[in-house]
Amino acid sequence: MLERSLRQQIDDLRKGEYSAVELTTACFQKLHQHKALNCFITLTEDQAMQAARQADVQRARGEVKPLQGVPIAHKDIFCTAGVRTTAGSRILDNFIAPYDATVVSNLASAGAVMLGKTNMDEFAMGSSNETSYYGKVLNPWNTEYVPGGSSGGSAAAVATGLCSAATGTDTGGSIRQPAAFCGITGLKPTYGRVSRWGMIAYASSLDQAGPLARSAEDCALLLGYMAGPDPRDSTSAARRVDDYMTPLKEPIGGLKIGLCQEFMASLDTEMASILSEVARELEQQGASIQDLSLPNATLAIPAYYIIAPAECSSNLSRYDGVRFGYRCPDPVNLEDLYKRSRSEGFGTEVKNRIMVGTFALSAGYYDAYYKKAQQVRRLIKNDFETAFNQVDVLLAPTTPGTAFRLGEKAGDPRAMYQQDIFTTASNLAGLPALSMPAGQLTELPIGAQLIGNYFEEATLLRVAHQYQQTTAWHQARPPLASETP
Ligand code: GLN
Repeated sequence: MLERSLRQQIDDLRKGEYSAVELTTACFQKLHQHKALNCFITLTEDQAMQAARQADVQRARGEVKPLQGVPIAHKDIFCTAGVRTTAGSRILDNFIAPYDATVVSNLASAGAVMLGKTNMDEFAMGSSNETSYYGKVLNPWNTEYVPGGSSGGSAAAVATGLCSAATGTDTGGSIRQPAAFCGITGLKPTYGRVSRWGMIAYASSLDQAGPLARSAEDCALLLGYMAGPDPRDSTSAARRVDDYMTPLKEPIGGLKIGLCQEFMASLDTEMASILSEVARELEQQGASIQDLSLPNATLAIPAYYIIAPAECSSNLSRYDGVRFGYRCPDPVNLEDLYKRSRSEGFGTEVKNRIMVGTFALSAGYYDAYYKKAQQVRRLIKNDFETAFNQVDVLLAPTTPGTAFRLGEKAGDPRAMYQQDIFTTASNLAGLPALSMPAGQLTELPIGAQLIGNYFEEATLLRVAHQYQQTTAWHQARPPLASETP
């Protein structure tokens, strides 16, 4: 059952091959078996079993919702009524939201069963899942390696087959990079496509939620139920949700695909040959490939690492020990309460970013840092606009290489930030981008990235789906996934 895709599980449940209770039980069995991977911060086993039973009862009565009884996992950044939401931080260790995030309620209304909340880098700041207060997540392909971050728990869970799909968020690569490191498919939609309501804010102008699954088809399926306008999020797009499933079947003949030269130039030969192989495959299917330039794309890292910390310094000011979350013991006065609650509640990486962001926004430095970074952001957006006058989709690497060893970059923030070199540009521009498995090096998966024009999620999913019809990288499973209880 667990090797079945999300779409297959929906079909199987409909045909009565197994029940939602049987499927959910199997998920928890495997989940407990692979506890050492540390994919989850909180499990909601009782609630899930109850929801599965209810799904079966409803089905027997003929009430069937589209995702009826399918178990999925939510990144622990989405608020869930009555179930704690930590964002991977000590400061929210005891936080129980009084409401569900829109993504959570949308998927619940579609019938999905929540297994629990997945592990993540603290406040989604990181590329390795090592900054979580709840400990690191291990990569199921090789447990000495990182799964990527910040949605590392979701990616590792899906790759291991603990569930067929999960939610994630992506501010600078946090869906695509762990998807690439774990050998699965992940999509960051256009900024505004999915509501951010109830999603704990890191950098509000960049944050976007999206699906992680083993195929483009399953991502399309999940996105259809996650996305949509939301009156409670003023930045959500007032646009109806496209049909992501039907266009998947259309061949990609005639599509123009661009290869960004600045990105390709920085790749080592093995990575470059994997990317060329993907380009060749798409060409064989009738797409035309052309080189093009995004002259300012290489400035994405410095711009991102000013803008994201600036926004985080503002967003995280709400954790003050007064309103919610961790409060230090025995404060002597208000100042002491603020200072100690925040210094004891936040981890090192989060504190670094709050300091960088506060500095970049401070009087006298604002023009030199924040304003400059916003100007660079505009140039990057313009580059993409020019590119999308010439091509339909851009093909790029997702990461500079495979997953790295646990601890390898933990003490070196700049090396860690360089991991995001190919992913941050599309967040700065607000464009949709997807990572799909495209090869392996040293028995670890490699991802290829597709970047699309605004609200062209359907095109990205179609290209990835067509690629997955003639290649098998997305079917490769980590050896650990096939171990049975
Ligand atoms: N690795 C990037 C960062 O640390 C991106 C994280 C994300 O997308 N949430 O900010």
